Amino acid sequence: MTSPGLFALERRRVVVSMAIGIACWIATGNAVGAAGVSLLVLTVLWGWQLSRLYRWFAHPDELPPLGDAAIRSVLRDVYVLRSRGVHRNDSALSSRGYRNESIESMREAAMIINSSNELLWCNAAAEYVLNIQFAEEEGKPLPDLFRGKALAKYLREENFQKPLRIRPGPDPEFCLQLEFSRFGANDLLVFVKDVSQQDQLDRMRRDFVGNVSHELRTPLTVIKGYIETVPSLMPELNATLEKCFSSMATQVARMENLIADLLWLSQIEAVEGERKERLVDVAHLLSTIVAELQAAWPHRSIELQVKSVKKLYGDERELHSAVTNLGVNALKYSEAGPVTIKWFDSAVGPVLTVEDEGLGIAAKHIPRLTERFYRVDKSRSQQVGGTGLGLAIVKHVAVSHEAKLFVESEPGKGSCFRLVFPASRSVESDASG
Ligand code: ADP
Repeated sequence: MTSPGLFALERRRVVVSMAIGIACWIATGNAVGAAGVSLLVLTVLWGWQLSRLYRWFAHPDELPPLGDAAIRSVLRDVYVLRSRGVHRNDSALSSRGYRNESIESMREAAMIINSSNELLWCNAAAEYVLNIQFAEEEGKPLPDLFRGKALAKYLREENFQKPLRIRPGPDPEFCLQLEFSRFGANDLLVFVKDVSQQDQLDRMRRDFVGNVSHELRTPLTVIKGYIETVPSLMPELNATLEKCFSSMATQVARMENLIADLLWLSQIEAVEGERKERLVDVAHLLSTIVAELQAAWPHRSIELQVKSVKKLYGDERELHSAVTNLGVNALKYSEAGPVTIKWFDSAVGPVLTVEDEGLGIAAKHIPRLTERFYRVDKSRSQQVGGTGLGLAIVKHVAVSHEAKLFVESEPGKGSCFRLVFPASRSVESDASG
């Protein structure tokens, strides 16, 4: 953009008016009159240019008036600036429209509710999935749009970390997943996904594993019976056969453990979403578990440190199996050192730890430990009767109790498995009676 000086801008008009003034002076010999004529001409020329400018300002869509070269460049710059401004406004408007349009046209169903959970907006996909008309439902509390109390409870608890799955209609197969995120003045953006198919597949997988495990139990019981009785029917069992029967007995025991763990895992998964409302006396539960472990490993040192009087809202059987699995692992994967189980309070909530001074685990394995059948050392796990499902069970129990599982371990030094429960899940022993 150019920035011409004042004289450059008005040079032509000044030269023209001075020439006319000089011509008048030569013709009349009257210098004052000639100067007056020159000023008059200059004023008229300015006035004319100004009037053209005002006309253009009144009709901005027209092209700017042609002035002399310098003025023309100024007008061209003004014109360019103006058109840029108009363009910017246009694009701002169109981008806002574009945004609204894109949210509206999203294939994913989306809704906005306010802090009182009233429906402020929803797109066409949400209308379709929920089978509603926004015009009719606008301003209504969201829980009123769904059957059951699960959504109202979820919104009351305001814990939006985990999405909510609900079955909103009479069709038990129809399952929706709702994901909430806060924005603006405490409003909530809700994404609604139809997860009926995924839910059905999950259920089929769980049922399949559960059914197969269940079906395997009867033949296994029969085989186990024969393994136990046949040797006693044979008066003389040679060493090879004896070894065979002993090996069969070990493998049958392994299969029994595997089936028991698979069945238990599918049971825990089936009720994972359900809230556990029973109060569990953790201190009492831990002393029971320590007594059981001590009975199975009489020569090992198992220490219990209870420093919290908190009770937990949860499922006693699930917690029992999680802590037992951690305790058994601590004993299995350490040769002699002590195993310590602790229950104590922390700033975030009550904590349960199981520590050993055993083999430890290399850092690269830690993220995968809770996968089903993941073993750091397969032969070692089989040697000590592991199923590869123990920590998967612990993880599921943690999830269904909103707890976080942390693993700290160092090869050769030992491991610490830590379950951190949310404070909201615990109460003081005295308060609960
Ligand atoms: P498993 O039945 O094989 O013990 P888990 O799921 O309980 O299966 O554990 C997975 C793997 O994690 C184990 O195979 C073992 O290698 C490792 N692990 C678990 N707990 C410990 C521990 N306390 N010390 C060392 N390794 C452990």
